[in-house]
Amino acid sequence: MSEKIKGFCLHGREKIMPNSDGLVTRNTSVVEMDIPQLKEGEILAKTLFTGICGSDNSAALGKANFDWVERPRVIGHEFSAQVLELGPGDHGDLKVGDIFAPLAMLGCQEEDCPACSVSKWNLCPSKEIIGFHRNGGFGQRVVLESDRAVVLMNGLSPEQGALIEPLSVVVNALYNKCAIKPGDDVVVTGCGIIGLMSAEVARAAGARVAITGIAHDRDTRLKKARERGFITIEVSPENTLTAQLQKGITDANGVAFGNNSKVDLLIECSGVPQVLSEAINVVRPEGNICVIATYGKEVQINATHLTRTSLNMRGSMGSCRADYMVAQKLMLTGAFPAEHYTDFYDFKDITQAFEDSIKATNVKAVVKMN
Ligand SMILES: [Zn+2]
Ligand SMILES: [Zn+2]
Repeated sequence: MSEKIKGFCLHGREKIMPNSDGLVTRNTSVVEMDIPQLKEGEILAKTLFTGICGSDNSAALGKANFDWVERPRVIGHEFSAQVLELGPGDHGDLKVGDIFAPLAMLGCQEEDCPACSVSKWNLCPSKEIIGFHRNGGFGQRVVLESDRAVVLMNGLSPEQGALIEPLSVVVNALYNKCAIKPGDDVVVTGCGIIGLMSAEVARAAGARVAITGIAHDRDTRLKKARERGFITIEVSPENTLTAQLQKGITDANGVAFGNNSKVDLLIECSGVPQVLSEAINVVRPEGNICVIATYGKEVQINATHLTRTSLNMRGSMGSCRADYMVAQKLMLTGAFPAEHYTDFYDFKDITQAFEDSIKATNVKAVVKMN
């Protein structure tokens, strides 16, 4: 292969503070890539658009919850790509030229695996995540198992295709884990893209939604949420969510949000340990907490309060093929307006895209890979 292909590669493990003065992208660099020989069941694809995930940022910052990722690694698991070549073996209906979004998580597919036997590869104990266990979507070409490919539905653009994976994660959390009902008052904590998607999907399910952020988010991410008509709540250690709900929050029509300062459901997307600790104070008895974030350290929970209020706290990990199908339909029907939340970058500006994402000065960075 004579073509010079580039990729954005994670190589370092230095612990970096996101707001540090130095270069926050010093664990990563753009490298020239070789394309490996296709093995049985693998395909070669031209990467079209790839989104930067909070987990990519965490890995780039050397956070402990991504220590397990081998370096060097071309990261990226949220992307759209076009099939260039089918390797040896059976690829089902997949053809050269098909545009697809890959399943981020590939299960072992053993018959006796409790997760894979019910098609939940996201819960397989030996699942492999593209962009972490093998090179991923921040390469201009990507080699992957054709079992991962989910061909995009007619009417979806490759730009939208890059957002199917994160939207599928939210679909899994909200539809399979949250017991969300029309009329529910829902707080989404954290206004990264998973938070913003959760807000949109919760509202599409009939809920009234508030979303939290910090002062730094006021003119970017919270602004985007306000423009979409969500209640936005700026929180700080001095002015917590609990305190603001107790003071009283109203929606655009002046109607009180929550009931006696409690909400029906809280969806935790911030990854900040204190935010999850606080969550059990703001949910009504027998209400729900859904945890989509992961945490760089252990989280303290007042378990006695959890018992006494009979709360349901559930985690939600990734997504599987069925969630990708629902996510595509939400995108097709306009339930999630991808264009409102996307900041596009050319591949030559990929390091800038990461820097902006780590510093949270954009909303959702999507890189045009070729
Ligand atoms: Zn992700
Ligand atoms: Zn398995």
